[in-house]
Amino acid sequence: MSSDPNCIFCKIARGQIPANKVHEDDEVMAFHDIRPQAPVHLLIVPKAHIATLYDAAPAHQAALGRMLVIAGRLAREAGATDGFRAIINNGRVGHQEVYHLHMHVLGGPEPLGPMLSRRT
Ligand code: AMP
Ligand code: ZN
Repeated sequence: MSSDPNCIFCKIARGQIPANKVHEDDEVMAFHDIRPQAPVHLLIVPKAHIATLYDAAPAHQAALGRMLVIAGRLAREAGATDGFRAIINNGRVGHQEVYHLHMHVLGGPEPLGPMLSRRT
């Protein structure tokens, strides 16, 4: 499985640095975001190093599919029982900070803000 020794989420996936983990299987991991932007803020990541969705390939299909399949259960178990938002930021325009693909799972008791805030 591909890994980048300088990548923080690869290090979390390999257990080299700690995370507040909520799920782990052979393909993916999920943990609480270190700077939550909603009462529930999880990150679901493939264990393999995939930088962005631009880099997704057929070999990644199982991991990427599993990220979607487990998102609802993990959101519900974390307390987001009345809806949530799943976001994957990609590249500069997408404001991606960590270049290891990850899906944000955001929720809480109240509706989230608008999906995008327009800068004028
Ligand atoms: P993005 O802007 O989509 O690349 O989001 C990166 C996210 O990773 C941010 O929400 C950070 O708070 C989060 N993050 C960075 N380092 C860690 C870490 N060590 N553990 C958990 N979340 C992290
Ligand atoms: Zn990585």
